[in-house]
Amino acid sequence: MLALGQMSRGFVHDFRNVLGVISAAVRLAERHADDPLLVTDFLVGAQEGVERGLRMTTRLLNFASGHDCDIHAHNVNDALVRLEILLRYAAGSGIRIVVQLGPDVPDVEFEFPQFNAAIMNLVVNARDAMPDGGTIQISTALISRPVSRDQGPDHYVRVRVRDNGTGMDAGVRRKIFDPFFTTKAGAGTGLGIPQVDAFVRQSGGFLRIDTAIGVGTTFDLFFPCADGSADLH
Ligand code: ADP
Repeated sequence: MLALGQMSRGFVHDFRNVLGVISAAVRLAERHADDPLLVTDFLVGAQEGVERGLRMTTRLLNFASGHDCDIHAHNVNDALVRLEILLRYAAGSGIRIVVQLGPDVPDVEFEFPQFNAAIMNLVVNARDAMPDGGTIQISTALISRPVSRDQGPDHYVRVRVRDNGTGMDAGVRRKIFDPFFTTKAGAGTGLGIPQVDAFVRQSGGFLRIDTAIGVGTTFDLFFPCADGSADLH
């Protein structure tokens, strides 16, 4: 029951992100009502959001009935290409999203819907940290094990989400893994970062954060590569 309670709160948080995307797409369609091609584009975006929301409800039902944990091999580059449109809606106008997909990125294992929700969380946070606009860079790379880690697999796939927003001071940075910690009075749930962290750990990886006031914040998600799957040149 405790696990279900935590899952439900996380679900509400992710579902709100998806509703935000649908709402943005519908508003844009309304605003460009005189341009049928644009309206079609925005409605396709809204439809994608609706389908994602439906898949999320299915996942919650599966979890509640004990049929969860659907961990498979996925390619982060393919996943990001599919997600890009929704990320642009989530970021909104005034924010540029630049996606740089690294070469030779092998498949890694994770639960697909959770990957999407994690990237969406990071993009929404990056957006919130840039009230006057800015750039969100999303990049992928195959890398060797960071020197700071003396054990674990030799190679990792790294997914990086970087913004040039407000950054965090030491006090905020210390608390972001605490469930319900938020600086967004009334608007935040404080569940985004704990969820991203739980997801990456559940996938056998780890999370690294680099932040500086006035410069911005970088979130690095490291996913372990199975031995022999990485062919570094
Ligand atoms: P929420 O977004 O609902 O507040 P999160 O757990 O996602 O919850 O984030 C917790 C807090 O961490 C945020 O309220 C914010 O203060 C800080 N934070 C997260 N991501 C960023 C970011 N990219 N830039 C600056 N601060 C951030």
